[in-house]
Amino acid sequence: MTVKIPLIDSHCHADAFSPKEWAVVVARALECNVRGGLSAGVWWDAFVRFLDSHKDWTTEVVFSCAEFSQLFSEDNRFRIMPCIGLHPMEIALRWRDTQGCFDLSRAEADVAAFLRTGRAYRNYVWAVGETGFDVAKDVVLGWSRKEEILKAQDFGFQASVALAVELGQPLVVHSRAAWAHTQKRIQEAKGNGLDKFMVHCYPGPASDLKWIEQLEGFAGFGGVLTWPDAKRMRESVKNSPLNVLLLETDSPDLSPILTDGTRPTRNEPVYLLEIARQAAALRQETSSELEGINFCNLSRFFSLK
Ligand SMILES: [Zn+2]
Repeated sequence: MTVKIPLIDSHCHADAFSPKEWAVVVARALECNVRGGLSAGVWWDAFVRFLDSHKDWTTEVVFSCAEFSQLFSEDNRFRIMPCIGLHPMEIALRWRDTQGCFDLSRAEADVAAFLRTGRAYRNYVWAVGETGFDVAKDVVLGWSRKEEILKAQDFGFQASVALAVELGQPLVVHSRAAWAHTQKRIQEAKGNGLDKFMVHCYPGPASDLKWIEQLEGFAGFGGVLTWPDAKRMRESVKNSPLNVLLLETDSPDLSPILTDGTRPTRNEPVYLLEIARQAAALRQETSSELEGINFCNLSRFFSLK
């Protein structure tokens, strides 16, 4: 008998779907053996709301399972692995004063609440994030200078690293238009006791994947790899060392272009199947090989067997 390795979404936003939508989305995912997902956090209060409204999704805590596969042994359950985060795009919206500068007092209040919440719910925190840096044009809008927004995102990143180290959990990193800065901060975090991390929707050049490997990190690849003009991402997928590679959807955002040429308006975990298929084609491997590698790497990300 061959056992099918469950396909797990390394990065989605389960709390972006209403419970009613989610029931449909999960049914579709389970039909295709997509059995769980790491649900990235956007803000500390969203994490609390998420846990409160969906207690039944999160009954399994990471500390109670010895093996990653144990989590998916039960049939017909989709396992959510929630994360608590301070998303850099949210930081850009929330920690800006009227002059377009970093508002330290607002940031301090949020960080205090973030740390308090992370500690109180530590048995539900699978990872800390997303955190990171984003200075794309749409995010910088309304800020006086790029340096000010980076100051704000640095503040959020340091708090996230501190919480990850304290809880002994990994970090989920978002980086857009700020790769060199992100690298610098990850390198420092590793020196400050950070263990595992993933850079989701990997934005760097293929050559930096070796650097990620040396730091025992991971790189997430999602719908963008199916876009023909995303040359850099496709090059990275092709050349990624196997032990850093993760598959993700980032649903409901960044939906893939399907093999039939259509592109769904809203992304969801079931499209991981398509992402795995197209990543495998780029690498000249089989989908099931990549799905297995994704599973092994995620269990290593969570420091499980
Ligand atoms: Zn995300």
